[in-house]
Amino acid sequence: GRGINALDHRADFPAIPAGWAYLDTAATAQKPQVVIDAITRAYDTSYATVHRGVYQRSADMTLAYEAARRTVARFIGAASENEIVFVRGATEGINLVAQCWAGEQLQAGDRILLSQLEHHSNIVPWQMVAERVGAHIDVLPLTADYQIDLDAMAAMITPAHKIVALAHVSNVLGSVLDARRAADIAHSVGAKILLDGCQAAPRITLDMAALDCDFYVLSGHKLYGPTGIGVLWARAELLDAMPPMQGGGAMIDKVSFAGTTYAPAPGRFEAGTPHIVGALGLAAGIDYVESIGLARIHAHETALVKLTRDALSQINSVTLYGPEDSAGIVSFSIKGVHPHDIGTILDEAHVAVRAGHHCAQPLMEYLGVDATARASFGVYNSAADVDALVKGIARVTRIFG
Ligand code: PMP
Repeated sequence: GRGINALDHRADFPAIPAGWAYLDTAATAQKPQVVIDAITRAYDTSYATVHRGVYQRSADMTLAYEAARRTVARFIGAASENEIVFVRGATEGINLVAQCWAGEQLQAGDRILLSQLEHHSNIVPWQMVAERVGAHIDVLPLTADYQIDLDAMAAMITPAHKIVALAHVSNVLGSVLDARRAADIAHSVGAKILLDGCQAAPRITLDMAALDCDFYVLSGHKLYGPTGIGVLWARAELLDAMPPMQGGGAMIDKVSFAGTTYAPAPGRFEAGTPHIVGALGLAAGIDYVESIGLARIHAHETALVKLTRDALSQINSVTLYGPEDSAGIVSFSIKGVHPHDIGTILDEAHVAVRAGHHCAQPLMEYLGVDATARASFGVYNSAADVDALVKGIARVTRIFG
């Protein structure tokens, strides 16, 4: 009904039973059977290590691992697969840039520019490096429409700012950054820009050249792939100038007690046996979203957001946060009800939402709340899930009314 069920991929997801409205995709996406199969197949029939074995099985696994890297490179429009570093997730990617780029390049008195809506993983690593080198952090405000205020950015930024790090899509509000404009403003003073693409990658077509950013991070588990795998993309010349974060096997050129030389990127940043099967699973997740089409996914989620916002805005006690055109995310609160109670009552109605600060406490402070409830959508959701949510919320307001 209502034109929202055109994208019906629920049957692809074995872990979503009938009657369960899974509305926590912004935290982590459920896995389609094709991803589960890719992971199972890797362990069942083709498992071996990469980069070391002289035997055929290991050579084949190395080809598969490097093919996964090429899949990622193509998916995000990287100039070369050598710009793709496999990491544990967005968190590790940001820490790598903070430690190995900013930690090397920034000096006392330099400045870092973040925004009010960042996830803790795009705040804390910068605080750690700022403390270490004596840099300062400035925070961009939000507009009345819950966007990172780029006019304020243009006014605030100075040549002392060496790095700007912003969410491409907010995990709380769904606000979509005008990333190209942000990059242009950063570059106007010679600053680098990192985009946190966790929430963008599953729904927005990415093209690193068009975005003109310098660093981009994403997490596989939000992209219908497994946990424990993610991507740091950086321009080749930036990666080439960065020291490794960890030392160990696979990241070296030659080791001796007289001195060790490192492998070129991306190997230099992948010390130890990597998450081989995770990379294959991530590539399967990418193949899956591409088989549906990001534009269709985005349109589908936008329709679900509109349906949800329209329904919730009719309920007097509900406050909605975030822009109308939020990318797949609706944060809300109900007057007089703690978000955890909303989440618990919705769970009894078989509706799974997130309740809490969403790893964005500075944003909560800005919104003047301790926590919000958050419904977020993926390819498996339908208007029926929104109906279940709205019914559940009506029950919450009855219980607390
Ligand atoms: N940034 C954003 C916007 C996120 O939504 C998340 C995950 N909630 C992260 C960073 C951190 O990702 P991960 O926990 O997978 O490292």
